[in-house]
Amino acid sequence: MKRESLARKRERAETVFGRLREEYPDAKVALNHRNPYELTVATILSAQCTDERVNQVTPELFRRFPDAESLAGACQDEVEELVYSTGFFRSKARNLIGMADRVMEHHGGEVPRTMGELVKLPGVGRKTANVILGNAFGIDEGVVVDTHVKRVSKRLGLTRKEDPVQVERDLVQLFPREYWTLLAHLLIWHGRAVCSARKPRCEECVVAPLCPSSRV
Ligand code: SF4
Repeated sequence: MKRESLARKRERAETVFGRLREEYPDAKVALNHRNPYELTVATILSAQCTDERVNQVTPELFRRFPDAESLAGACQDEVEELVYSTGFFRSKARNLIGMADRVMEHHGGEVPRTMGELVKLPGVGRKTANVILGNAFGIDEGVVVDTHVKRVSKRLGLTRKEDPVQVERDLVQLFPREYWTLLAHLLIWHGRAVCSARKPRCEECVVAPLCPSSRV
């Protein structure tokens, strides 16, 4: 197969983005939150857990610990009990309290707004930091690469990489910065709705004519 030039690929990426945006006009982060603190907590809890499950535990958690100050002073046992059903509850509880502690100690109680500062918070890696920057602060710092983003990007021929950091590097080269946060939501929504891991429904896919993996 002929190799696609970068310019061509960018053009195709732009069209894919447009079609997905039309298809999923409501695409947004699925974790319920009212402020950066809540989104940080919810995103830490979402590791190895569904967003639905996280949304079940956060109302009580936020009621009990409405801000970084209260969470920094929390008792580990109580937090463990509240987050138990999200899995890895011991390390998640430890990270939540550690995150809140650092936010109090170094940032005056406010979640920081830079990648460099965010990744120093316990439980926050590059992916979590991208979620927070893009969705709590409206800063397009990178593309969140989860399992859906990786799979759909590969099928669409936008990357060949496996490692999320390298996938992100490929995607940021293809899409303008102002697309980055929404792009992840669109790929996630498309991955859940149509381009599933087991059985992609190419016959119903709005980007099938642009997809090298299409079966139609
Ligand atoms: S055509 Fe098929 S493989 Fe390609 S994005 Fe659509 S559902 Fe996925």
